[in-house]
Amino acid sequence: MKLVEPVVYVENYDGKKIMQRIERACRVCYRSEGKITEDSYKTLLTNCINRGHESVLEHEKISVRLVGDIGAYKDLTRHRFASFSVESTRYCNYGKDRFNNEIKILKPCHIDEGTELYEIWKKGIESMEKAYLEMSEKGATPDQLRMLLPHSTAAEFAMTANIREWKHIFSLRCAKMTHPSIRQLLIPLLLKFKEDMPEIFESVEYDTEFPKEKYANIIIMD
Ligand SMILES: Cc1cc2nc3c(=O)[nH]c(=O)nc-3n(C[C@H](O)[C@H](O)[C@H](O)COP(=O)(O)OP(=O)(O)OC[C@H]3O[C@@H](n4cnc5c(N)ncnc54)[C@H](O)[C@@H]3O)c2cc1C
Repeated sequence: MKLVEPVVYVENYDGKKIMQRIERACRVCYRSEGKITEDSYKTLLTNCINRGHESVLEHEKISVRLVGDIGAYKDLTRHRFASFSVESTRYCNYGKDRFNNEIKILKPCHIDEGTELYEIWKKGIESMEKAYLEMSEKGATPDQLRMLLPHSTAAEFAMTANIREWKHIFSLRCAKMTHPSIRQLLIPLLLKFKEDMPEIFESVEYDTEFPKEKYANIIIMD
């Protein structure tokens, strides 16, 4: 097995341009396009959000690619207004050479290495992998093999959502009651969105006690 760390690849968006394009669409409501200046989007967006006029945020979208675990993608794909493309355990046979004959496992952020619990978890994963590789060797199909895969299996998935949906997803999935493997991916992404688009995201709350050293790396995609 190969232990991997979580990563969030983010498209190289321009936060100011996103907000200015939302402003352009929104001003159609009031036919106030003539009031557009370099910075007029700031007040307009703040007012819209305060009044709950959030449908204007649907005019723009952002795509990311996440390396998380099966548990994270299972939960995130419940969000009906986001679009997903998920690494398929029905097509990928990790027992083949192109996967180095091993299963990638996301290092759990809430089971500490060096503890008894970690050792028990690791033993469970190793025995699962042994069975997977044995079945693969005997010609099992990915459809059969995936019956063994646990929530810790690393999964890569592309995700696109409009800005309104991102705001909604962050408000649910960066909170304390959400599973740590999702908070680990989405809190650092929310912090980036807050920095680049404060007028839209600054009011979104998150679990500030989640350990920063466990945040997924954020990498900008070309
Ligand atoms: C902490 C936590 C625990 C959870 N536990 C469970 C669990 O035990 N079992 C389980 O099955 N799920 C669970 N969920 C998933 C949860 O019930 C939602 O399915 C998931 O969070 C998607 O949220 P959503 O429906 O708000 O989002 P989206 O699908 O992103 O929708 C966005 C918003 O659009 C509106 N909307 C969308 N579709 C409709 C519709 N058909 N009718 C009316 N309004 C609509 C709603 O206002 C919704 O909030 C949990 C989620 C969280 C955050």
